[in-house]
Amino acid sequence: MNIQALDKKYVLQTYGRGNVEFVSGKNATLTDSEGKNYIDFTSGIGVVSVGHANKRVNSAICEQIGNITHTSNLYNIAPQAKAAEAVVKASGYDMACFFGNSGAEANEGAIKIARKHGERDGEIKRYKIITLQHSFHGRTITTVKATGQEAMHNYFGPFPDGFVYADDMDAIEGLLDDHTAAVMIELIQGEGGVEPQDRAKVQALAKLLKSKHIPLIVDEVQTGGYRTGEFTASQVYGIIPEIITLAKGVGGGVPVGIVMTSLKEVLSVGDHGSTFGGNYLSSTAVCSVVEILNELKESGELEATSTYFNQELEKFYRSNEKLFTQKVGIGMMCGLRVKDADTLTSIMNNAKESGVMVLKAGRNTLRFLPPLTITKEEIDEGFKSLSTAVASI
Ligand SMILES: *Cc1c(COP(=O)(O)O)cnc(C)c1O
Repeated sequence: MNIQALDKKYVLQTYGRGNVEFVSGKNATLTDSEGKNYIDFTSGIGVVSVGHANKRVNSAICEQIGNITHTSNLYNIAPQAKAAEAVVKASGYDMACFFGNSGAEANEGAIKIARKHGERDGEIKRYKIITLQHSFHGRTITTVKATGQEAMHNYFGPFPDGFVYADDMDAIEGLLDDHTAAVMIELIQGEGGVEPQDRAKVQALAKLLKSKHIPLIVDEVQTGGYRTGEFTASQVYGIIPEIITLAKGVGGGVPVGIVMTSLKEVLSVGDHGSTFGGNYLSSTAVCSVVEILNELKESGELEATSTYFNQELEKFYRSNEKLFTQKVGIGMMCGLRVKDADTLTSIMNNAKESGVMVLKAGRNTLRFLPPLTITKEEIDEGFKSLSTAVASI
């Protein structure tokens, strides 16, 4: 049976998969089962931040699993402690980490910390979590409810109580009350359509919440790991949140979710846990990925790549102004607003044919999340293919 038939028969059909099978990759270049090459402007949705088949990450992982892969969190795990140190130091915040296995799980951890903090915080029980419309926080029952998209709340109820949606940043203040446990936001909405929040509004919100002792949770599952120029987008925005969640890009393809917080004393032994979280395999990947990204940042290469990518994206945008209305994003989390949804679908289909992988976000945004290690040559080739893709539209 071919792979597509096997998938249809034995895998639950929850994804609209493109009929292509990649068999190998090198940095930002993927090769499919027919031997055709593609430039990957997606990093597997922001995951493969240091490129496909990164030799340093692979040899670190192979060396580690040659010794030990998993013991459980009942014992010391050296790579977990080192990964926590690496992540905290890269952020510059005074925080400590909990390790899970996905973005949704990291957000679950963040919500648990905020709710327990709320219970300890005086007489009134604080349980309300305010999130934004068009946000995306995950697929578990709780994080799907935290997600401000009504269409995602169609089934699966009853949901946990206490989630409230603000129409935009300006509406948050009016929703704060004595029961508010936390506000949770993405600084740049990813799935919602590459929507950066206004810097001044973010800073004002952070300040307001501090004055009210309400923790700010920043969901950096997509923005974290130097995607926007600094290790966290919170640093780019110049704020100090109480809780930050990370996942996608910090494991380089190995499943990991991290919640980091300055509220280090809230959770006690037994309050939270994970069987796989922070095991030898995933923590070793995090250590290696963060080390590589730190070097990329310190050498100035990250900045140079981001500048070049954005310059080429701008050129592509300028030469196709009949298709696009705006260039958006920060660092290497970018998008182009497409004039309508049908045009976006055509671009997506043609891009695959021309050998370049791109993403869709929201209703009308063409999204770019290239590996942070992408080379100039790969960027040039990707935009060349993309120009071919849009030529006939
Ligand atoms: C992808 C994403 C999640 C969910 O992460 P999973 O690893 O799929 O659970 C949560 N929040 C944001 C902002 C994301 O981009």
